[in-house]
Amino acid sequence: MTSFSLTEAQAAGGLAVARRTLQLLRSVPEFGDRYAQARPPGSLAELAELPPLAKDDLNTALARLDPAAAHGATWLFQSGGSTGAPKLGYAPTGFYMAKVFEHWRPLDRADVFVNAWGAGRMWGAHFLAAGLADLCGCRVIALGSVTSAEYPQWLGFLADRGVTAIGGTPSVLRLWFAHARAAGIELPSLRKVLWLGEAWQPQLEEDLAVVAPKARRHGMFGSTETWVVGANSPECPADTFHPFPHQLVHVGDGGLLDFTSLDPAMLNPVLRYRTGDAGELTVCGCGRPGPAMRVLGRRDNVVQVRGLGLHVDELLARVEREPGVVRAQVVITEQGGRARQVDVLVLGELPDPEALRRELLSATVTLSTAFVHDPEQVRVRVVDALLGNERTGKTAGFVVREAS
Ligand SMILES: [Zn+2]
Repeated sequence: MTSFSLTEAQAAGGLAVARRTLQLLRSVPEFGDRYAQARPPGSLAELAELPPLAKDDLNTALARLDPAAAHGATWLFQSGGSTGAPKLGYAPTGFYMAKVFEHWRPLDRADVFVNAWGAGRMWGAHFLAAGLADLCGCRVIALGSVTSAEYPQWLGFLADRGVTAIGGTPSVLRLWFAHARAAGIELPSLRKVLWLGEAWQPQLEEDLAVVAPKARRHGMFGSTETWVVGANSPECPADTFHPFPHQLVHVGDGGLLDFTSLDPAMLNPVLRYRTGDAGELTVCGCGRPGPAMRVLGRRDNVVQVRGLGLHVDELLARVEREPGVVRAQVVITEQGGRARQVDVLVLGELPDPEALRRELLSATVTLSTAFVHDPEQVRVRVVDALLGNERTGKTAGFVVREAS
């Protein structure tokens, strides 16, 4: 299988955008001579020779370039990057969704679509979903985020409206369907669940089977830097997306994915940009021809605990297999750069946290080895809420915090 999502012929016209982006990156003084020797890419092989762009690089470039949309407003959104002050990604009104709509139409005029991505705080997903809904011509209920106490009331309203579609990050969707299940509310008319922002959570299927048995998932993959790169349909595996022709996906060293925008309207200088996700190009099970992108997760989901690598996803998968557990989160408390404590926070019901704790300790070599002298520092706790990231609006699988 190729290492590019497009053939040479398919990419040829769009490489002019990559050459222009290279020109822009050369003008950023902070990059020094990084791009000085770089040849303007005339082929995919030449593009693959350009240095990859990391998250912080993109923010450095944007601070210099300060791009503006050719038409309409220029929107500033929160982008990724490490903690601290918000980093920025830019987009014109419309959020590039017209190009997505050419190839992917999960909604139609008959749909009543609940936009449950959080609005405000410079989060982009709510607005790009609104842009897509606009093109699809459906009815829209712009709900955004709600507080814990408000779920039953809003769910009743949505059931009365006969909603057919809802969209949000999988973390948020899980809250909606877990609350519906707990309150005994069903959404029999719901057929479409749009998602973006995190990996799909298989546990959603369990709640959906009870609350909305006719609902099927329709996923998007992207970031505030690249915007929507690809999408899938219910027939595709949840980790596999079909990239759009204006997005060039490349599998580089170590299986890391990088993205190059071939859209002349793109404001962010996305040239071999790495989101930190690893992946591969593959044939999708849905039968659609052409390379599909399988996302294998973030390379940074292995976290160092006392010098040993802890596979957070494996640990979470084990905990979330427990009946009654809605979601789990690993919180590592550090003191002076050393992990003092590992807490596994559990949302939902868990009758015997201590039994699970003992099992995790014996089954996870990293934990049993790292905490051999102080196993009591590994804890399993049932909580009312996981720790959310106020800045990004996401609930991460693991959180590292400094001891207070
Ligand atoms: Zn597919």
